[in-house]
Amino acid sequence: MTGRNLNLYFDRPHRTLDVDEIQGFLHSLGLKSYFRGDFYRANKVDLDEVSMALAGLRIRDLNREDSLNVNPVENDVSQEKSILKFTDPIVLERDFSNIYSGFHLARLLRRYVGSGLHIIFTSRLPATFEGTRYHGRVIVADFPVAVVSTTGIVEAPARPREYYIRQAAYHRAQHAGLPVPEEPEFMQELEEGFKEGFIGYDDTRMTEVVKGCTLQAAFYLIFGEVFCQNPGCRLYNAHTQKEMIYAQIESGMLCKHHQAMLEDNFSCV
Ligand SMILES: [Zn+2]
Repeated sequence: MTGRNLNLYFDRPHRTLDVDEIQGFLHSLGLKSYFRGDFYRANKVDLDEVSMALAGLRIRDLNREDSLNVNPVENDVSQEKSILKFTDPIVLERDFSNIYSGFHLARLLRRYVGSGLHIIFTSRLPATFEGTRYHGRVIVADFPVAVVSTTGIVEAPARPREYYIRQAAYHRAQHAGLPVPEEPEFMQELEEGFKEGFIGYDDTRMTEVVKGCTLQAAFYLIFGEVFCQNPGCRLYNAHTQKEMIYAQIESGMLCKHHQAMLEDNFSCV
C-alpha cells in the first residue's frame, strides 16, 4: 500500500546516523522507505520564510509553558538562515537558547509535505512542557510527520545518577573556589568515564538507536500506536539512557505483540 510508504529526510542530523542502514532495517521488517535528502530542498521550502518561523519556535524560558520566541530578533533569524545554508549538525547552546517547541516544530514541518508519511531526522532538540518545565524529546509528531532528534537521543533520556552526582560535586567545588580543572577538561573526562552508559554525539551505537526511534515513529504514523510497556521492546518509551540502550541495543527486538502487528500488516515479513 503506497499510503504506508515512509519518506525519510535529513535536517542536519549527526553524522553518525547511517540512513542506508536505517532503510535496510525497515526493509527487513517489510516497511518500504524512500530517502528524499534534505527536507527543505525536497519540499521546495522558502528558506527565508522557514528561518523566521523556526526562530519563532525557540523556547525562551524552559520553566514557562508556551514561552515561544514570538518576535525573534534579527540575530535569531540569521542564525537559522545560516544553519540552513550548511549540513552541519546544530550544536546545542550551553544556555539552551536553541531548543524548539516540539509540537510547534512538527506542525510547522507538516505544512510543507505532500501525501504519504514523513520522518525527519534532525539535530534540533525539540522539547515539550510537562509538569513544571520543558523536557527534551527524542520524537515529536503531528500526523503525517514525525521528527526524530539525534540531539534528543543524547540529551533527553537521563544519564546514570553517578554522572550527575560527580557533575554537581565539580560545580560545588568550583563555586567554593577550590582548585579544579577547567570545565571543558572536566566534562570531557567525565563523559569519557561514563561513555558506555549513554549515547554520545559521535557514538557508533547512534544508528542502532535511531532504528528503534524510526520504528516508534513509523508505528505511530501507520497504526496510531504509541510506545510499548515492555522494556525489552524497540517501542519502549525509555526515560533513561540505560533503558534506551537496553531496549534498542541489548534487546534490539520487538515484543511479540508488535512483531505480530508487522507480520499481519506487511506481507514481506
Ligand atoms: Zn512492544
